[in-house]
Amino acid sequence: MTADQLRLRIREIPDHPKPGILFKDITPLLADPEAWRVACEAMAAPWDGQGITHVVAVESRGFLFGGAIAARLGAGLVPVRKPGKLPFERSREEYALEYGTDALEMHVDAVGPASRVIVVDDVLATGGTAAATVRLVERHGAAVVGCGFLIELSFLGGRAAVGKRVESVITY
Ligand code: AMP
Repeated sequence: MTADQLRLRIREIPDHPKPGILFKDITPLLADPEAWRVACEAMAAPWDGQGITHVVAVESRGFLFGGAIAARLGAGLVPVRKPGKLPFERSREEYALEYGTDALEMHVDAVGPASRVIVVDDVLATGGTAAATVRLVERHGAAVVGCGFLIELSFLGGRAAVGKRVESVITY
């Protein structure tokens, strides 16, 4: 199954969650066993043999891919969550989203100077979410090897905003 065949399993929903946003609905891809398997393989493959110790996954759709990729790479999984969700001591970073602003939190003991991290999410749009996650991880002395996405909305310039190696499976 090629990237173009994966693309056929992404549904576009106009004006969700608000007017002007063309939402990429990945649920048809998730529900297709072969597409789901191929997507996870394609997201993990660029990071093979890079000594990745942790996959940092962004709430909430990043969790879906992060878990599968971490298992595939033999890495640990670190959730980065919306404020108020994580139970232990947290670091916080503010960020701007394509639709609104928010903050992200990570447990303070999740990664450290010995960690080699990739940041994973479903969609790279403006890059605000991923850039905030990179800052959060780097604040704790960990190295961010790169960021991986299923979908990159390249016309929004997220790749430059992230400023790290970016790997994406499907580009619009
Ligand atoms: P950004 O911070 O602008 O790169 O936005 C990335 C985050 O917003 C990701 O967690 C995506 O899940 C979500 N997102 C942004 N734009 C879209 C879109 N057009 N379709 C689906 N999700 C989106």
